Amino acid sequence: MRIAVVGGGIAGLTTALALARVGLHSIVYEAVHDPKPLGVGINLLPHAVRELTEMDLLGELEAIGVPIDALVYRMADGREVWREPRGLAAGYHWPQIAIHRGRFQSLLRSRVQRELGADAIRDGHTLASFRQHADAVELEFVDRAFGRPVATVEADGVVGADGIHSAVRRQLYPHEGLPKWNGISLFRGTTLLPARSAATQMSWTGHSRQKFVGYPIAIEPTGEILFNWICDLATADPGSKPREDWNRRIDPTAWIDRYSGWVWDGVDVVEIVRRTAAVFEFPMIDRDPLPRWTHGRVSLVGDAAHPMYPIGSNGATQSIIDARVLAFHLATAPDPNTAFIRYEQERRENTSRIVLMNRAHGPDKVLEIANARCGASDELDAVFSYQERAEIAAAYKRTAGFDPAVLNSRPSYSVPQR
Ligand SMILES: Cc1cc2nc3c(=O)[nH]c(=O)nc-3n(C[C@H](O)[C@H](O)[C@H](O)COP(=O)(O)OP(=O)(O)OC[C@H]3O[C@@H](n4cnc5c(N)ncnc54)[C@H](O)[C@@H]3O)c2cc1C
Repeated sequence: MRIAVVGGGIAGLTTALALARVGLHSIVYEAVHDPKPLGVGINLLPHAVRELTEMDLLGELEAIGVPIDALVYRMADGREVWREPRGLAAGYHWPQIAIHRGRFQSLLRSRVQRELGADAIRDGHTLASFRQHADAVELEFVDRAFGRPVATVEADGVVGADGIHSAVRRQLYPHEGLPKWNGISLFRGTTLLPARSAATQMSWTGHSRQKFVGYPIAIEPTGEILFNWICDLATADPGSKPREDWNRRIDPTAWIDRYSGWVWDGVDVVEIVRRTAAVFEFPMIDRDPLPRWTHGRVSLVGDAAHPMYPIGSNGATQSIIDARVLAFHLATAPDPNTAFIRYEQERRENTSRIVLMNRAHGPDKVLEIANARCGASDELDAVFSYQERAEIAAAYKRTAGFDPAVLNSRPSYSVPQR
């Protein structure tokens, strides 16, 4: 079976590795010529780490990432709203790992090249269009750096893993238009902190219109901590036209003072942002869930299928699960179309629910409610019970597929090699 994976991000590369595990060779077509380790921090939740562990990647992940053992939500005045253990500390059989997105992508690229051969990733191949025939799909690639055609390829199945601006999705849904923006900008960066100066926890402070998120993503050879941070600020009306270049550098001077006094657990937001060499801006965008991913021999994975707000740390995680579920069905179904349909049946509604739940603040809802109900002199427990907070956290885990008991006991997606 000839499988073309369009896009060499986390979803595409994991798909290639997952397919290789079931004896299926694929070729990954990536638009960029010489991908650099771009992006800042992402979290790999235990349901993704389970899949990566079952593909023998845990050791390499642990070498470059940081195991996270707690999650803390606070109001801007420092009052704690919710705290829960994470990863192994929460009883999962697999850790939660915070990691630099670009370093993780580089790790996946070298694994694909090692396992499938250097030729398995074709850089500089931007999908321009595809045509479905009865027994194959024909794909046209261009080199967008030079604006010329580079290849016409035939495949038995096509996996669109080309991110939130997917060309595959655009051809399937030509009238969809731009992603949707809720008017929140995410200002992001990484800062080196002295060794042992930050706990291995994720901390979320504030509310949806002004928030700070921070967590460590690497321990450098010097022992220093590479700390990932995000300042969420309302900068436009919901529904405004988004700007969405991950590499748009900005000067934080205009807004940094709004965070003065935000200091807890040794983290001083103003200090951290001021020490950051490069600050990037990205709008909080997603797309409406699709009624269908699979069209004949073509289907979608990752952000091409279900782009979601970066709330609840599920973007990369759900892409990794897509890859494994798709490989499972391609290995066990009689033909690619049946496999794609089974894959979609298992994944589409689940991920659509996460997209919608993230629009309603996902697990961060505890901050919205605490801020709405709790005046400066109120006791949190009196206005927002522990039980209610616990149910918000648990409901999100059930929807996103990482309820500890369910995850620890569900069958594996591994299938014996052919
Ligand atoms: C440069 C970059 C930086 C990012 N930084 C962060 C971050 O800091 N934090 C965070 O939480 N998330 C970040 N993300 C998003 C995050 O990687 C995804 O939400 C998640 O990992 C799901 O990944 P994906 O593989 O589905 O999509 P993506 O990671 O977007 O990967 C899609 C890939 O497809 C390629 N591509 C696009 N169009 C075409 C085409 N027509 N033909 C061939 N290839 C194509 C892209 O170059 C890219 O490599 C970033 C994404 C990118 C592309």
